[in-house]
This record gives sequence, structure tokens and C-alpha cells, in this order.
Amino acid sequence: MKFEDVKIKDKQFIAPTYNRFDVAVERGIGSTFFDVEGKKYIDFSSGIGVNAFGVNDETWKKAVTEQLNSVQHVCNLYYTLPQVRLAQLLCEKTGAKKVFFGNSGAEANECAFKAARKYSALKYGEEKRYRIVTLKNSFHGRTLAALSATGQDCYHKDFGPFLDGFDYAEPNNFQSVKDAITDKTCAVMMELIQGESGVRVLDKTFVKDVAEYCKQKDILLIIDEVQTGNGRTGKVYAYQNFGIQPDILTTAKGLGGGLPIGACMLFDKTETVFSFGDHATTYGGNPVVCAGAVSVMERLTDELMEEVNEKGAYLIKEISKFPAVESVDGMGLMLGIKLKAGRTSRAVAEECLKNGLLVLTAHEKVRLLPPLTITKEEIDEGLKVLEGVLK
Ligand code: PLP
Repeated sequence: MKFEDVKIKDKQFIAPTYNRFDVAVERGIGSTFFDVEGKKYIDFSSGIGVNAFGVNDETWKKAVTEQLNSVQHVCNLYYTLPQVRLAQLLCEKTGAKKVFFGNSGAEANECAFKAARKYSALKYGEEKRYRIVTLKNSFHGRTLAALSATGQDCYHKDFGPFLDGFDYAEPNNFQSVKDAITDKTCAVMMELIQGESGVRVLDKTFVKDVAEYCKQKDILLIIDEVQTGNGRTGKVYAYQNFGIQPDILTTAKGLGGGLPIGACMLFDKTETVFSFGDHATTYGGNPVVCAGAVSVMERLTDELMEEVNEKGAYLIKEISKFPAVESVDGMGLMLGIKLKAGRTSRAVAEECLKNGLLVLTAHEKVRLLPPLTITKEEIDEGLKVLEGVLK
């Protein structure tokens, strides 16, 4: 089918919630894609941080297909090996004590809200402490609770009323967080790099001050690592770059390596909050998805993390030289390019696409989330396109 025919059918049958770029991807290998008409693209987007090991990755495919050949779904009334293996790996790599599996980032966050509220209900009485402080410019997902947590007005228009119980503070302003906290607050939730709103890395001192304050007040610290997790920032989880310890950690995207999963990790304070019937989801912890995720987690080694940091540093060094670039922020392979006045991120992304490079936008910034295993050759090929566009 020709691209224009796909586009016409998409317009006819798909709810128009996505402002898609003009490409229909057909296949790929590693960090290289081909569209339905055979044109080649270098991928600096990894499906918004999902394809951690690129596409057509042999190890991941083997893990997934082996499980598919055994059983594709088992309901959560029964035990499965892939689910416990994945939970064990997550606990070993983070120090978490228990994991709840869902199917997306928003769902992982919903679980975190429930866990935080239940912790406080058990300890301080029902509805005494139920409010959650989040940061402005944050993004926590599109379900109504996750959207209520999201500190960006642009996502709220027309969907109110929102869930009661969320208060917003200024990022990198400790006093603002303290002011937002009341005797009704049960948790503070943050992305350590605000991804969707422009790859804004939070100050380490701010993050540590908030973590310390929360500890003093027995307010739970929820870290949303839906985007920053699973090796993206050069550590298995980004909080490991900040010298803090979450009480609840959520993740999704890269964990599944291409299949839908969300995980809510519960640490010392929260490990015992849930009991039978408190939370559930039909597909959560699906064995095929978990088998793929095990193969992702097992390969997030120190060596790979070192490579991620090296590749990120190389990209920053090279991109910073391009004339249309104001600055490049980020960590590991999560980068945001601030453009000089006169260029919009959408126009840059469209021009990159025309020239065979897939990049993302995050508000006014161009966002790069290449697969963790992108090769030096692929990086250089992509950089050549970027250089031509950002001149
Ligand atoms: N939290 C963060 C930090 C995200 O970046 C996203 C998605 O981009 C979400 C939550 C929502 O994840 P999902 O789209 O899987 O529900």
C-alpha cells in the first residue's frame, strides 16, 4: 500500500488524537527503519523510549517467541515464571521489595497513587492524608488521575472536573514544594527529568532537599521513571544519578522493549500496603510481555550503561556545534535540543524526517531518545542529517 493510501484510511477510521508525521513505518533493524515505500530512516526516537534495544532485536524476539510458543496469557489468579523472574530482577536492581504490573505508564502511576493513599490511610486514618504534590511542567499520563497529577494546563482543557487531591509546586524551588505540602499531603511525585515538557533535568540539590524533607515528614516520595527508566539516562533508573531513595518507583516504556507493560515498585515503607483485592488488571504481568522485559533487564549491564553515557556525551558534543542550536540538555540517551529563535521543533522534526531521520519534539525542544544500542555508524548518519537541518 502506498503511504497516501495509509494516510487516507487512518484519517477515515482512527480517532484524530495524534498529530502524526508523514511516514508509515513498515520494518526495521536496530536503529534503522524503512517506510512502506522503502525509504530508509535512522531512528533517534525508539518509539518514544520504548524500543530500548532497537527493532528486530534477536534476544528480545527469542524471549518473546519462546514464551508465545508456551502460553500467551495466564490470568492473575495463577502464578507464572516470567512474572516472578521480572519482579525479582526489578527488586534486585533497585532495592524495591514488591512490584505490581500493569500495562502502561499511566497505570503504573495510578497504582502509585493508590499505594500512597493506602499507606497514609493505614497509618494516619482514612482520608486524613491523601493529597499528592506534583511539579509544574510534569507529565504523568492521560487517565484522569494521571492527568490530574500532570502539572500542565494545556492537557487539562475540556476534561474537567479533575480528581481532587493534587497540588502543584514549582520545579527546582524547594520553598514552593514546602509551601504546597500540608498536613493532608501523603506523597510528593516527580519526574527527575521532565521529559514530555522539554527534557528539563531537575537540580540535584532540589531533588535531595525534597527527598530529605519528605523523609522527615513521613511523606512518600514517588519517582515517575516511565520515560527515564530502564537504562535511558545511563543508570538502570535515573534516581540512581541523584543520590536519593524513592518510596515508590513507577516505570513503563523501555521496560517492555516494545510490548506494553507498566510497573509500580514498592520499597520498604510501602511493600505491605496492598492486600488481596486492593488492585488488579487483567493483562498486568502478561507472560509474553514479562519474558521480553526480563531479556531487557538482564542486559542493562554496567558496560551498556557506560556506552549509553558515552554515546550521549558524543551526541551533545556534536549537536552543540550546529549553528541553529542554543543548547543541549539531558542525561545518557535522553536529550533535548533547545533551538535558537526562529526555528520550531515541529518544523525541525519534519525536515529531519524528509531527510531520513526520526526525531521527537517536547514542546519547543527537539527530543532525542535513540535506542540504547544505536551504533556509532547510525549515530553519525543521523548527525549528518541533523547538521544539514540545524545549519
Ligand atoms: N509518565 C511519564 C514521565 C511519561 O513520559 C509518560 C508518557 O510519555 C507517562 C507517564 C504515561 O505513560 P503511558 O503513555 O504509557 O501511559
